[in-house]
Amino acid sequence: MSDTYPIAPHGGTLVNLLAGADDAANLAAEAANLPKLVVNERELSDLEMLATGALSPLTGFQGEADYVGVLDDMHLASGLAWAIPVVLSVGDDDQHRVGGADAIALCPAEGAEPIAVLRVTGQFKRDKYKEALSVYRTDDLEHPGVKAMYDSGDTCIAGELEVIALPGHDDFGNYRLTPAETREAFRQRGWKTVVGFQTRNPIHRAHEYIQKCALEIVDGLLVHPLMGATKADDVPPKVRMECYEALFAGYYPHDRAMVSVFPAAMRYAGPREAIWHAIARKNYGCTHFIVGRDHAGVGTYYGTYDAQKIFGEFESAELGITPLMFEHSFWCNKCEGMGSPKTCPHEADDRVSLSGTKVREMLSNGERPPQEFSRPEVADILIAALQA
Ligand SMILES: [Zn+2]
Repeated sequence: MSDTYPIAPHGGTLVNLLAGADDAANLAAEAANLPKLVVNERELSDLEMLATGALSPLTGFQGEADYVGVLDDMHLASGLAWAIPVVLSVGDDDQHRVGGADAIALCPAEGAEPIAVLRVTGQFKRDKYKEALSVYRTDDLEHPGVKAMYDSGDTCIAGELEVIALPGHDDFGNYRLTPAETREAFRQRGWKTVVGFQTRNPIHRAHEYIQKCALEIVDGLLVHPLMGATKADDVPPKVRMECYEALFAGYYPHDRAMVSVFPAAMRYAGPREAIWHAIARKNYGCTHFIVGRDHAGVGTYYGTYDAQKIFGEFESAELGITPLMFEHSFWCNKCEGMGSPKTCPHEADDRVSLSGTKVREMLSNGERPPQEFSRPEVADILIAALQA
């Protein structure tokens, strides 16, 4: 198994922070005597991604130089491109309790066994106002990512991670492939080019269409749904997975497409998160990455194509992975097929286009949206979930 097939990870080496069996036993024994810190759901997602190399080249929670570099100009202190801070923040009580320690045992929940040891390299004050404006382009607390950031502690503890065990999950076991495992899956399938698709939603015809447009020019498709924390009104992970399975069963070629879980928490940081998502997918082995309209956006905080434009702020070699930009797509009755403003010359009246609000209203009334908008199998799953 090669670390660099089919594309080198960000920074060149696929990080693996998970200890082998002997080392894990020693680490667990050491952790038993260290001050303990419970990490929140979002930071636990980051810990899992750090452990498996999804955030290569990071080997722990970021220190101040990296943090400031990311906020100021989207680069690590090493000069490598990076768009979203990955930090461990603690409130005042925890800071007083563990702030002076050289090593801290990190626990996934109150009373749970430690799953990692953090070798502390420093601590610094989290500049929340600056982070809000630079990463989220707003300090509005109505923004779910800004809110989550302001809800976290004021002090960041930086350090290198040594991981005893990955966070446990009781769902999607077969779909939780690490970057080393997706790379191996691509190798086994002989895919030399792979396009990654990020989603936190059920997939309707428009997104199926852009995935398949992308698949026309590469060897394989990785549908990579984000399954970490999302906002409360997003469709729950279990329901989404049922939708993906129904789509794959009926409409996707199994030798050309696969689904795996992306364990990240959602930031809703729009353009910057698009860059971060792309870099992480490169670590999973994707050579291409789909960037649609309003990628990782929420509300009206970002322009429709801001997440595509931001790729222009980097030299293409800096990111390595190739972004594939798509416009809004739809079924057109005159074309008798899917298209976009780029490929369909017809009027709005000829196009099957529904607002998110309208779709939710139809589904809650037990009504399928038109099959040109949503596959009936997917619609039925969403209807059943809304009526449960
Ligand atoms: Zn048309």
